[in-house]
Amino acid sequence: MNLGVVLNRVFRVKDNPLFEYVAEHQDEINKVYFIVPIEDLNDAATVKRDYYHKVIKGFLSTLERYDIYPYIVTYEKLGELAHTLALSHVLLAKDIMSYHKEMYDYHHVKRAFENLQITVIGQRVNHYFQPTKTFNKQQQPYKVFTSFYKANRQDLVHTPKKNYQFKQLTKNAQKGSNQSDLKFGNNKDIEKLARKTWDDFLNDDIARYDKLTDDVSQDFVSGLGKYLAYGLVDIREIINDLLEGYDSDETSYEAFIREVIFREFYYVLMTQYPETATKSFSEKYRNMQWSYNKSHFESWKKGQTGYPIVDAAMKKLNRTGYMHNRLRMVVAQFLTKNLFIDWTWGEEYFRQYLIDYDNASNVHGWQWSASTGTDAVPYFRMFNPIRQSERFDAQGYFIKTQLEIFNDVSSKYIHDPTKYKDKLQEIYHIEIGKDYPQTIVNHKNSRDYVMDKFKQF
Ligand SMILES: Cc1cc2nc3c(=O)[nH]c(=O)nc-3n(C[C@H](O)[C@H](O)[C@H](O)COP(=O)(O)OP(=O)(O)OC[C@H]3O[C@@H](n4cnc5c(N)ncnc54)[C@H](O)[C@@H]3O)c2cc1C
Repeated sequence: MNLGVVLNRVFRVKDNPLFEYVAEHQDEINKVYFIVPIEDLNDAATVKRDYYHKVIKGFLSTLERYDIYPYIVTYEKLGELAHTLALSHVLLAKDIMSYHKEMYDYHHVKRAFENLQITVIGQRVNHYFQPTKTFNKQQQPYKVFTSFYKANRQDLVHTPKKNYQFKQLTKNAQKGSNQSDLKFGNNKDIEKLARKTWDDFLNDDIARYDKLTDDVSQDFVSGLGKYLAYGLVDIREIINDLLEGYDSDETSYEAFIREVIFREFYYVLMTQYPETATKSFSEKYRNMQWSYNKSHFESWKKGQTGYPIVDAAMKKLNRTGYMHNRLRMVVAQFLTKNLFIDWTWGEEYFRQYLIDYDNASNVHGWQWSASTGTDAVPYFRMFNPIRQSERFDAQGYFIKTQLEIFNDVSSKYIHDPTKYKDKLQEIYHIEIGKDYPQTIVNHKNSRDYVMDKFKQF
């Protein structure tokens, strides 16, 4: 066969199942063409686009060291390239949920190749579980996380390392594009950096993960999301490490394993219910008449709602392309349960900004927050942003990192500036409504309104 290996979002040289496939099938391969299709991220935030380009550039530089020079092409020209190279087969990753546009996903790309009479070989590269092997006794997907977790946790086992030599891979490899033409960012070895970040987390922080993960003023999370989204680390290796260290601290390791299984749960749901990318998972809410108040939406996006925890979280997202899980829930609940804005607007905004964007986790994280999804607690789970702020950023340290105006303000006044506007004026000369926005909605009133709306279904 003349094999094209499509390498988008599996940007690692180690433990890469696509490379393993090539090594194992050498006898059947006449020529092999490594291809890196580039996603168009022009409508994404600069911070996300830059990261994607930086990762690609780093990956290409690493491949160069192993004498591999892939063909670099846009998705639009992928079919044309396959035709020119006279490919008989292509090898594709079939379980990636982090593409920026839906048209880059497995099903779309597979169909395009099949229309050209090219045989598609799909390979699992980015998730641990196979969706159909996680079903319940009725052969249906689990719809509640806890049941999924209980049923599948025992199936996490040590997986043997991928074994291949680069000599095997380059044997029939054809040289592609001249990479010096690429103008993307720097070319640091991001794969090594990802591995180091993960090792540091295991050595230093996982012990505090269970107790402190929700404290948004500290950084006891792993940062693994973005490495998984670009395929810089192998999920099987992550699980191997977690199982190896498990006995040293069962509680902390289990807490982390639970979160990683959350990602698998949402992945399985998304493969089984792809329509939930834009429609409520819970069918009864599909006719909900959400608010489409653009002015409220703008305030939310810019971090000008008058609720410091929400505003600081949004400013952090806009600046860095990252937001802590607790804050994702807080801002998502605020958008859907206080402003009553359609969760799909928030999902789309996160897609543009989140470096670790993952369609399944994002959509279902939003639906969980909007009570249209898999949360076992019904719609009356409604976060109070002030209470959330007091609980998870008690001293206001996180708020102060994003909203300089509150730098000197006591934690007593920082969570609810509208309530303490006289004190803020008197002590710190901060005028609410001028120096920092007044709350755009009253929490209690907006909460009651939304509660009523949900009750009608
Ligand atoms: C509204 C909303 C949108 C979200 N959008 C995304 C998204 O686009 N991409 C994404 O990867 N995650 C998303 N999440 C889940 C979670 O917030 C991120 O995975 C996490 O914050 C990433 O940071 P980390 O890697 O440091 O997390 P850690 O706390 O260190 O967790 C480790 C890993 O576990 C998995 N994980 C943890 N929590 C969750 C969760 N609630 N759901 C699914 N997987 C989880 C992720 O793979 C994460 O990288 C979203 C959550 C919400 C509430």
